[in-house]
Amino acid sequence: AAKENGRNRFHYFTADMQKSAQSRIRLANDLRVALARNELLLHYQPIVELATGNIFKAEALIRWQHPKHGLISPAEFIPIAEDTGLIVEIGDWVFAEAAKQAALWRALHDPEFQISINKSPVQFRNNGETSVDWIAQLIELDLPGQGIVVEITEGLLLDAASDVTTRLLQYRDAGIQVAIDDFGTGYSSLSYLKKFDIDYLKIDQSFVRNLKLNSNDMALCEAIIVMAHKLGIKVIAEGIETEDQRKLLIQAGCDFGQGYLFSRPVIASSFDALLLNNMDA
Ligand code: C2E
Ligand code: MG
Ligand code: MG
Ligand code: MG
Repeated sequence: AAKENGRNRFHYFTADMQKSAQSRIRLANDLRVALARNELLLHYQPIVELATGNIFKAEALIRWQHPKHGLISPAEFIPIAEDTGLIVEIGDWVFAEAAKQAALWRALHDPEFQISINKSPVQFRNNGETSVDWIAQLIELDLPGQGIVVEITEGLLLDAASDVTTRLLQYRDAGIQVAIDDFGTGYSSLSYLKKFDIDYLKIDQSFVRNLKLNSNDMALCEAIIVMAHKLGIKVIAEGIETEDQRKLLIQAGCDFGQGYLFSRPVIASSFDALLLNNMDA
């Protein structure tokens, strides 16, 4: 049923199950075959231009339709995927799936449509992924790199063990754009923003949640937005749930927004309907 209505109603594990090492091992084993059994799926959440409400992008968010446990949240299984190294294979699948969808929505709805995908720091270590693969896939789909935005977190930019510089340059060469996810919550070094030629900052939802006029959170949002714009970086606010938050973010000069106010993450066919409505508006 969760799949039908396209909403994320997760069946969370009990605290006991989470703690149990055995259940983690079982889950890791299940995850190993989940890809082959087609149990992983992507939901898409619209990213709207705040001033107009038009949908210009989507974030792809992974879910696991487990045969016994129902729809499992990435917060539950991505850490297991990272520990076991399965994140590499899963990440390749996410890229391929999102790229296919981006090519489709660019052809059907908007030639500049972008889908952003999340990348774990683990995917930047050693052979985190094969660069040959994804470039070939872009060519095969006739998808310009601009159709894809890669979301990374601040910590990665300081991770000496990763080949982040090389990879980000490869993305840049392929036209793929880069967003800093959950901005403001990690160990950030602002100098990295210029060094790595970032395209988007995503203001973490913890700054948006209690947003009020003349509040500290408002001051932080305004400062982040001014700084980003001076560096030629666009800003996306995450976790917008209320009309007030939307208005305050517009007032602060924020470019794009994402959150339950506009839509929850939904399956591709439901997102199609959102895009059709969007064009009518
Ligand atoms: P994220 O990338 O920061 O994604 C935003 C999260 O906020 C999503 O949770 C989304 O459903 C949720 N969200 C969106 N709007 C609202 C709102 O208005 N209010 C509230 N309370 N929440 C909102 P989700 O889908 O559970 O994903 C959690 C995290 O899992 C993501 O955080 C991301 O770090 C990770 N993740 C998701 N998909 C992937 C993937 O394909 N690969 C990797 N490596 N990580 C992923
Ligand atoms: Mg993200
Ligand atoms: Mg985020
Ligand atoms: Mg995150």
